[in-house]
Amino acid sequence: MEEKPLSPHVIIFPLPVQGHINSMLKLAELLSLAGLNITFLNSDNNQKRLLRYTDIHARFANYSGFQFRTYSDGLPEDHPRSVDRAWEIIEATNLSGGPFLKELLTDIRPTVSCIIGDGILGFLSDVAKKHKIPLIHFRTASACSFWTYFCIPQLIQAGELPLNGKEGMDRLLTTVPGMEEFLRGRDLPSFCRANDINDGFLQLVMNETVKSSEVDGLLLNTFEDLEGPVLSHIRTKCPNIYTIGPLHLHLQTRLATANGMKPSQSSNSLWEVDKSCMSWLDKQPPQSVIYVSFGILTVFTREQLMEFWYGLVNSKQRFLWVVRPGSVGGDDDSTKKLVEGIKERGYMVGWAPQEEVLAHKAIGGFLTHSGWNSTLESIAAGIPMICWPCLADQQVNSRYVSEVWKIGVDMKDVCDRKIVKKMVNDLMVDRREEFLKSADKFATSARKSISEGGSSWGNLDRLINDIKDMSSQAHSI
Ligand code: UDP
Repeated sequence: MEEKPLSPHVIIFPLPVQGHINSMLKLAELLSLAGLNITFLNSDNNQKRLLRYTDIHARFANYSGFQFRTYSDGLPEDHPRSVDRAWEIIEATNLSGGPFLKELLTDIRPTVSCIIGDGILGFLSDVAKKHKIPLIHFRTASACSFWTYFCIPQLIQAGELPLNGKEGMDRLLTTVPGMEEFLRGRDLPSFCRANDINDGFLQLVMNETVKSSEVDGLLLNTFEDLEGPVLSHIRTKCPNIYTIGPLHLHLQTRLATANGMKPSQSSNSLWEVDKSCMSWLDKQPPQSVIYVSFGILTVFTREQLMEFWYGLVNSKQRFLWVVRPGSVGGDDDSTKKLVEGIKERGYMVGWAPQEEVLAHKAIGGFLTHSGWNSTLESIAAGIPMICWPCLADQQVNSRYVSEVWKIGVDMKDVCDRKIVKKMVNDLMVDRREEFLKSADKFATSARKSISEGGSSWGNLDRLINDIKDMSSQAHSI
């Protein structure tokens, strides 16, 4: 293929897990829409699932400069790629991704102007340096959780880590600037619960996170009106930050603005989406249904499932529940039977079109694991949340939902039917007005940020211009 002069070309390399692929594909589409050439790197395993369950090829057919390239994630075919093995996914990608990327860079055209890579993938810095290509980190988690990752060395130095039992879990922490008044030990990312500060996962996150202060920029899927105070702390370490979220809303707006293209609501799903829940929702009264979903990686025991089930049923509220295949210990069939018994008030699917669900007028609340994509999607839709965090950034996000943004309640470390029932009723009835007031405020500012003239809109334009400059420099070397 003949090389076009000064044609910006970006390589995008996410960690091969759903939440990361989802937001980085949205970024890929936004950059493609701006006319940049994009090569998106996906693992063979995830690419197969993406092709099977989405219309991804049709969506990207509009962009002549877009291509996928795939690599082996180095894990056996039957590896579950689940929460308890997240560490293995990162390690395997760090091993297989480096050699793959180095080889790709030797012959790919047009010349690569910039790599946008997942900030958790340590090998990217070495490869970018060796090939003298600018590197921008994308951290797909919230700014608030990123800042706690960044402060792990200070937490260790001050003796606040390891947490040392229940007392440490409940103590307010003093060494995360800006969070002294509300962040307890139990609100730190899950890997901070390790008893040994030499724990592999803790060390990996700590070491990779500080590298974001050495790269050419940091991209975050958030917006200034939501996380401004914590972003000002991060800027003292990483001065060049592009906040461009909420990405799903931003993409919809840019598609609608550019030649009236149909807004995309695809979640770039690696599971088969069951759309039957949309017609069920159509039949429910406005704001009457609580949507229940624990994301991609959460796995729970049968006992935990039953506590949620009884809590939801006893609350007498309507609910739409996503029970992902394989997410419950025991067999999935008996789970379906649970909902058959209460058909008029409950509906269960294996995987939902979440963005559409949250935007549906029948939805009034979200019982969530507090993954960052889910949290932002809920904020953008103005839906209050009950948080039951499981791992990593989710512990921090849930604290922000309840104590900082005041758009819901945090149920972390508890799984009890009475509390589930109470929190569902707080969210849907008793404290509804209070939560809706804040939720409406943030939904409005989310929309403002991704509209022309808004902060995220402006930051995306700045990112595109910076990449074009990088491209000119690459071509003039
Ligand atoms: N999701 C979906 N359907 C479902 C459950 C989840 O489309 O039934 C999407 C959801 O919209 C979100 C992503 O999966 O974009 C989950 O990402 P998140 O960061 O919330 O969770 P994690 O990856 O940490 O599990």
